[in-house]
Amino acid sequence: MSNILIIGAGGVGRVVIHKFAQNKEIFDTLTLASRTLSRCELYQKEVKDRYDVDINIAQVDADNVSELVALIGEIEPDIVLNIALPYQDLTIMEACLQTKTNYLDTANYEHPDSAKFEYKEQWAFDDRYKSSSIMALLGSGFDPGVTNVFCAYLQKHYFDEIHTIDILDCNGGDHGYPFATNFNPEINLREVSSKGRYWEEGKWIETEPMEIKMVWDYPQIGKKDSYLLYHEEMESLVKHIKGLKRIRFFMTFGESYLTHMKCLENVGMLGIKEVEHNGQKIVPIQFLKTLLPDPSTLGCRTKGKTNIGVVAKGLKDGKEVSYYLYNVCDHEETFKETLSQAVSYTTGVPAFIGAKLMLENIWKEGGVRNMEQFNPDPFMNELNIQGLPWELKKL
Ligand code: NDP
Repeated sequence: MSNILIIGAGGVGRVVIHKFAQNKEIFDTLTLASRTLSRCELYQKEVKDRYDVDINIAQVDADNVSELVALIGEIEPDIVLNIALPYQDLTIMEACLQTKTNYLDTANYEHPDSAKFEYKEQWAFDDRYKSSSIMALLGSGFDPGVTNVFCAYLQKHYFDEIHTIDILDCNGGDHGYPFATNFNPEINLREVSSKGRYWEEGKWIETEPMEIKMVWDYPQIGKKDSYLLYHEEMESLVKHIKGLKRIRFFMTFGESYLTHMKCLENVGMLGIKEVEHNGQKIVPIQFLKTLLPDPSTLGCRTKGKTNIGVVAKGLKDGKEVSYYLYNVCDHEETFKETLSQAVSYTTGVPAFIGAKLMLENIWKEGGVRNMEQFNPDPFMNELNIQGLPWELKKL
């Protein structure tokens, strides 16, 4: 039995809370803390009504290390799950270090003033986490997260060497709005409007945003335009997958999404630097977030499925082989189960599973770790149990 602190009561946080409540035997105390207490109150009531589970709530500013240290010191959790935003990764990691508490997140650190994400600053905690005998599990969402575990599973069971990996992320869901993002709009739009990048023969190759497109036939969804983006799991996978020669990441976007995004970009609404407006300073992309639908409210109106997976090609026993490993998730089903759409669900369930494996000492090592560094089998098994079953096809 354990004591858990979850920070961040947004779209993904709601799924994590529901999953813990469904698995109440693994904890005895759970606290949900966030910047806005009313969101914590809403989820506290939800899990009481649905599962008869009591959780504690707290208000915290996770940008403030001393506030975090005080909260963690008071609660003394076995683990802190950072389900807030990538901007809070370093402050929460620092607070966990100061209080010798295990840490988990779903997205790598991003500085608010530059739309660039990399693991460097988080990996820099490794020695200090190791010497404090605590662990940080980075990127325990779907991508990053499950995609890393899929690669580790394929490497372990189906390949001697993996030569190429394509990560393929399709959201075939429709929420009926002309334009909305499925997770935090600021983080989402910063990611997709940045330059693309992929890794080949030891080098990163940069592309213009949306420059490389292919059409992929996603099982249970169909053919979709898929665009090459930079995505953070590639940075750790190039270090950990044997014999890799190329890795790329593709995500689907519809015409309407791309046209809206281009327009918003052209008029400056995706800007991340402060501008003066009627004597007030505002950041355009943050103002846009205020105008767009809150992703946590999309669940009840989203229909369709997501399909996220990995295609790997390489050698087994001297022969060339290719496999496609993927999960299909239905927006309406996830809403019935957790009052959340599938993008939040596919992120929140792996966050819960990562924490469960850490709490059960199945994934345990001092230091800062990425998902593919652990035995993938227990995680793959939990995916089938916790609502994200996977399929493997030989191509
Ligand atoms: P939301 O914006 O819905 O939720 C974020 C929550 O964090 C909000 O409740 C927000 O509070 C809270 N928060 C923000 N800043 C602070 C702060 N300084 N102190 C305390 N709480 C704070 O985002 P999502 O739930 O959609 O995303 C959560 C995380 O999941 C993000 O890091 C995102 O990048 C990641 N993600 C990962 C994916 C993956 O597959 N790996 C896929 C999708 C998302 P408030 O209510 O006050 O705004």
